[in-house]
This record gives sequence, C-alpha cells and structure tokens, in this order.
Amino acid sequence: MSFDYNKALGQNFLKDNNIIKKISESINPSNKDLIIEIGPGAGALTKELVKKEADVICFEIDKRLESILSKIKSDKLKIYFEDFLKINLKECINPKYEKLYFVGNLPYYITTAIINKIMDESNPYEITIMIQKEVALRFAANPHSRDYSSISVFLQYNFDIEKVCSVSKNCFEPIPKVDSMVIKLRRNKKYVSNNEELLYKLIKDSFRQKRKNLRNNLSNYDLEKIEKLLQEKNKSLKCRAEELSVEDFVFLSNNL
Ligand code: SAM
Repeated sequence: MSFDYNKALGQNFLKDNNIIKKISESINPSNKDLIIEIGPGAGALTKELVKKEADVICFEIDKRLESILSKIKSDKLKIYFEDFLKINLKECINPKYEKLYFVGNLPYYITTAIINKIMDESNPYEITIMIQKEVALRFAANPHSRDYSSISVFLQYNFDIEKVCSVSKNCFEPIPKVDSMVIKLRRNKKYVSNNEELLYKLIKDSFRQKRKNLRNNLSNYDLEKIEKLLQEKNKSLKCRAEELSVEDFVFLSNNL
C-alpha cells in the first residue's frame, strides 16, 4: 500500500490475513450489540468486523485515511475521524445496545489511557486489543512473577484476561521493532470491593518502589492494622507487593 505512514501515530498496519481472521473470529456479538473499533487504519480488521451481525463504529485520528476507509461499504458502519481520547464516549454510544465489544490494534504509548477511558465512560463487555507482547505479559502476570505490577492487579481485579494469539512483527507494514500479542479483557465480578478508590490507591502505593517491602511503601498507612490483616493471609509487612494476590489487595482495602 502506498501510504505515508505516520510513526508518531503508531501506524503499523496489519497485513497478515490469518491474524486478521483469528482476531475477527474471536469476537462474537449479536445483532443487539455494538463493536467499537479504535484506530481502524486502512481497515484491515474493519472489513471483517462489518460482516458480523452487530453495528460497528470506528474512531480514527488520521483524516488522511478517509478516502481508503470510505471504500468499505456497509449500512452498519459509522466512522468518526477523531482522537478517541478526546471524544465523549457516552454521547457516541446509543444506549440501545446490549453489549459493547471494543477492538483495537493500539498505538503502544496510549494503551493504558485508552483502557482507562473505556472503563470510565462505558460499560464494556469485552475489550480485544493488540498490544506489545511485553505489555500483554505484564497485564496477565501472576503474583511472584517479574512482570506482576500494579497494572496487573488493577486489570485482573476488573477483567479476566485471555490470550488470543501472538503476532510476529513481520505481520505488519511497516515492520515495527517489537512483537505483539492479542489479548481479550472480559469484565468479571469475581471480587467485591467496598471502596474502589482506596483499593486503587493501595495497589499503586504498594508497588511504588518495587524492590521495597510493604512496610516501606505503605509508611503513610496504619501499619499496625495492615500487619494484623496481613497475618490473616499468612503474610507480613516484610512482604513485597508482588507477593499479594488480587484477592489480598481487595481484602486489605475492604478492611482498612
Ligand atoms: N487497525 C489497523 C490495523 O490493524 O491495520 C491500524 C492499526 S495502527 C497500529 C493504529 C491506528 O490507530 C492508526 O491508524 C492510527 O492513526 C490510529 N490512532 C492513533 N492514535 C489514535 C487516537 N488517539 N484515536 C484514534 N485513532 C488513533
């Protein structure tokens, strides 16, 4: 394709049909649902998404792609040429839809901002995203592993995370520096928090300095109380945050 790719917008377009098919086949909405694609690019995935029963809306920041994307003819498709991070998602999504399926091959530097926006402004049923492999591994990491961090706990509190497929950097044009992975985040209600604000703060503070233990990172909290609660989970203030499960964080914040 002859197109002047904009590196700053993370424009690496998918050209591998097997991967496009795998992503598309993993998304199974009904005609009462809505697919929201972020960054359709030249529409490699969009072309498959419009074959499904659901309506599709896309947000693409680069207006130069309008002439390419307008070739996809479908009554079910609506494309907004806007910065996804700046739109008012609530206004763009008709409340008539039952389930919201978000899809995106995201520029790596705005992955977390996009997930936060989706969660703040909508009630996603499922988010299927292609992201840098290392980031995907961090999102899905288990306690005690090197990759386990505050974002792992935050996401796993909210979602079940499932790997869809690994994607070699050779599947893109132009070829990026890193390999990618497609993962699916599906909303879960496994954990019940009675104070999410405190839970998120506790997660962030506990991982503040990864090499330090909880006594150091949580020095602004009621340490005596935390020590008592940790004992109930056979843990102590000498532990590092990476030793606490999502359930442990929910238990601590619910009882502080
Ligand atoms: N989905 C296409 C594919 O897989 O071939 C393109 C993926 S490319 C990695 C990312 C796309 O997101 C680009 O088309 C880029 O212009 C668009 N983009 C970047 N930042 C955006 C933003 N803030 N809002 C909407 N689209 C954005």
